[in-house]
Amino acid sequence: MDKINLLALNADEVKGFLTRFGEPAFRANQLLDWIWRKNADSFTEMSNLPLVLRRQLADVAVIGILKLLRTQESKDGTVKLLFALQDGQTVETVILPYDIGNSVCLSTQVGCKMGCAFCASGMPGFIRNLAQEEIMEQLLFARRIEQARGRRVKNVVLMGSGEPLDNWDEVLAFLQAVNDPQRLGMSLRHITLSTAGLIPKILELAAKKLPLNLAVSLHAADNDLRSRLLPVNKKYPVEELVAACDQYTAVTGRRVTYEYILLDNINDRPEHARRLTELLRGRLCHVNLIPLNPVAELPYRPSPPGRVKTFATVLEEAGLNVTVRRRLGSDIAAACGQLRNLFCGDPNEG
Ligand code: SAH
Repeated sequence: MDKINLLALNADEVKGFLTRFGEPAFRANQLLDWIWRKNADSFTEMSNLPLVLRRQLADVAVIGILKLLRTQESKDGTVKLLFALQDGQTVETVILPYDIGNSVCLSTQVGCKMGCAFCASGMPGFIRNLAQEEIMEQLLFARRIEQARGRRVKNVVLMGSGEPLDNWDEVLAFLQAVNDPQRLGMSLRHITLSTAGLIPKILELAAKKLPLNLAVSLHAADNDLRSRLLPVNKKYPVEELVAACDQYTAVTGRRVTYEYILLDNINDRPEHARRLTELLRGRLCHVNLIPLNPVAELPYRPSPPGRVKTFATVLEEAGLNVTVRRRLGSDIAAACGQLRNLFCGDPNEG
């Protein structure tokens, strides 16, 4: 029989689970403290629990199921982790170094249904959703690694493989677990969810009034081009997408980030920048320009630096708030759009 994964349980469920061992109630708090505060991944280390209980727990329960298959570290300090899940599928997680404290980029699905033209994650198609505890364990794992290196995880981005709003139930359960004071107890202000633009879910998310940061993969301001790059645009056109984001800002007070990958000669000319300023004019928002991380099999190339600069200037002159994303981890195929959950045969890797 499968062991119980304690990462899938909330505090009350852990308490309920412990009653079968006839232990006093405070044991549950000790166990929760080990898992969520002290980062334990085994029962052996839980020194304030009776040895017999530790053994009994190890017989029936686990703290997570991920198996680390490989760790790669980039010259710039980015770390990419490849995990095996219980069913043999694999998933990648990236730790990104920033001066203010590191960010962890989590995957929410194995594969992806979105089929964006420039992204590697969707190339194998959609395989399956990750469960809340599988998303959470990526974060706990990264936190453990960072702790061992004397560093902290400050921010979490749901920008790994998968479309988080296409895995609604598990992603919401994950956000709840992150925020739950009896579990991770982290403010959602430190979490950013990135979506290709599933409008009904953006509106549902807005209605929940969470202080979560929303990022939207825009990449083009007109429907023809955007539909070519992100097929999801055929269903959810760009003006309606921006209106949904306005609603998100109106309800939550959070500024939306628009992500815009600059693709050489595709969407990076001054007229594209002007269309973008027309689309976003007057909005409380932020534009994040992303130099493309090339994927070997795909025909797109990054815009030359000069064109990136001109593009940014057009936006700034129109009063938009703009940053150019630092490109981290591209030497280990850990950059945005390069995650593909393949253990073997990755042409991006030496
Ligand atoms: N499905 C979600 C989250 C995953 S992608 C989304 O679409 O937003 C996270 C970010 O990486 C998005 O902005 C996405 O557009 C970007 N991205 C994808 N492929 C990329 C590539 N090859 N180079 C740079 N960024 C890429």
